[in-house]
Amino acid sequence: MTLKQEVERRRTFAIISHPDAGKTTLTEKLLLYGGAIREAGSVKARRAQHHAVSDWMEIEKQRGISVTSSVMQFDYDGYRINILDTPGHQDFSEDTYRTLVAADSAVMLIDGARGVEAQTIKLFQVCKRRGIPIFTFVNKMDRASKSPFDLMAELEEVLGIRSCPITWPIGTDGDFKGVYHRDIHQLEVFDGSVNDHGSTKLESIKGSVEDENLREFLGEDYHDRLVDEIELLDVAGDPFDLEKVRSGELTPLFFGSAMNNFGVESFLEKFLKMTTPPLSRHSDDGEISPYDERFSGFIFKIQANMNPAHRDRIAFMRICSGKFEKGMEVRHMRLQKNIKLTQPQQFMAQDRDVAEEAWPGDIIGLFDPGIFALGDTLLTGSERFHFEGIPVFAPEHFARVTPEDSIKRKQFVKGVTQLCLEGAIQSFKRLDIGMEEIIVGVVGALQFEVLQHRLKHEYGVDIRLNVLPYRMVRWVKGTDSLDGLNLTSSTLRAQDGDGRLVLLFENEWSVDWAVKNNEGIELTTITDRD
Ligand code: GDP
Repeated sequence: MTLKQEVERRRTFAIISHPDAGKTTLTEKLLLYGGAIREAGSVKARRAQHHAVSDWMEIEKQRGISVTSSVMQFDYDGYRINILDTPGHQDFSEDTYRTLVAADSAVMLIDGARGVEAQTIKLFQVCKRRGIPIFTFVNKMDRASKSPFDLMAELEEVLGIRSCPITWPIGTDGDFKGVYHRDIHQLEVFDGSVNDHGSTKLESIKGSVEDENLREFLGEDYHDRLVDEIELLDVAGDPFDLEKVRSGELTPLFFGSAMNNFGVESFLEKFLKMTTPPLSRHSDDGEISPYDERFSGFIFKIQANMNPAHRDRIAFMRICSGKFEKGMEVRHMRLQKNIKLTQPQQFMAQDRDVAEEAWPGDIIGLFDPGIFALGDTLLTGSERFHFEGIPVFAPEHFARVTPEDSIKRKQFVKGVTQLCLEGAIQSFKRLDIGMEEIIVGVVGALQFEVLQHRLKHEYGVDIRLNVLPYRMVRWVKGTDSLDGLNLTSSTLRAQDGDGRLVLLFENEWSVDWAVKNNEGIELTTITDRD
């Protein structure tokens, strides 16, 4: 196949959701349709146990196995699909945010009874910032759920996105009858009794809404209500507009039950048609089209200790243009040298395999002897460019970190620097005192344990970690110096690892104070890596 054909059949997306909304279940059903796995339960079994686990070592141990699912590739109906998996544990949510940078679209999974939840809001904002298409699947419709109109209002009020229902649920009080497909005027009937928790594919029964049988089937009450609601949507709702969907302004809305395999395949089919093939990527030399024959890609995630048996580190590269071939020589732009990509790994649903070739939209795992950093650009050809940096997200936990034994300071600094490059932690330096003191910031508190463990085992340094009271960091724009700012006494002036000015706050109140009392400055929660 040609480059054009390979690009056009690719779909690379991530599923975003709050824990427990059903992401693992949905992923599994998608893989099932793609024939990538044979029975349900196989993803779950390999999966790091989420949220309840407080011991990251346990997570890591399991990750050694579950990591093959970092990216899941499978074929469906002529498409080559890459699902980017994201850590279930919210303490590793920074990893999730970064993974979204490699996706061309997102499926937002919502629990019908719970609506939009905290973690969904954060993940949504990262997607929105990139303007990628977002598709909403409301799950667990087999149980009582919020009214679909309320859910639409919630999407608009909480997330600021308008939605266009493609399917519409019938019976939302635990009396779920199925969904009506507005585009093809058909009813997909739910029969909760036919399945054994969806471990096999369930055929859906379809029938037109005009069909007399349908009224008979649903009964007058349900049918009347459906007709009224569909009319209301047709008159007052947003019309479907593919342009708006693709620019992330309108989210197509679907309802179903992942566990019961209901509404999943019809969702997949429509989603694949509506979403985009790999998109162009911004670089300092303009847009790089996936159809560009020159190979290029960037590193969006680095994962250490994937295999506990021998310490290894894998850098995940998203291919942006051209054809990738095993053993090819590429230019490492940051290091300004050529390197050979000899043992690239490709991640299938259940195994990792050596990648002989890959195309834009695909993700390749590269063994990393310590030469890769987040955002690194790799390319071939005579022109040189860097892809736009991977955003840096505001940490929420801070600690002063020092080596137990000051003789080990050199290894300590080396380790901290490496972990910063990998994006496992962020480092800050206070501006008010001359001392070389390292403050480490992390998005999830478990990352402190990762820091402690890795410095000890990889760099032979025991560290002392004093947790600081700060809860927020904001990057400061609109001034060259923090000296003259009017701030609360608990606010700390500092700079991040790349020398950008930041303020560390203990509470919202201090953030508000800084905003109100310092005209002309702007405080941001996300910044771009250089
Ligand atoms: P994750 O944390 O988002 O990966 O969620 P899981 O896929 O592990 O699902 C969380 C729980 O919700 C599990 O007990 C699932 O069996 C259940 N679940 C998932 N989908 C559905 C569904 O469609 N209906 C119902 N009733 N439960 C579901």
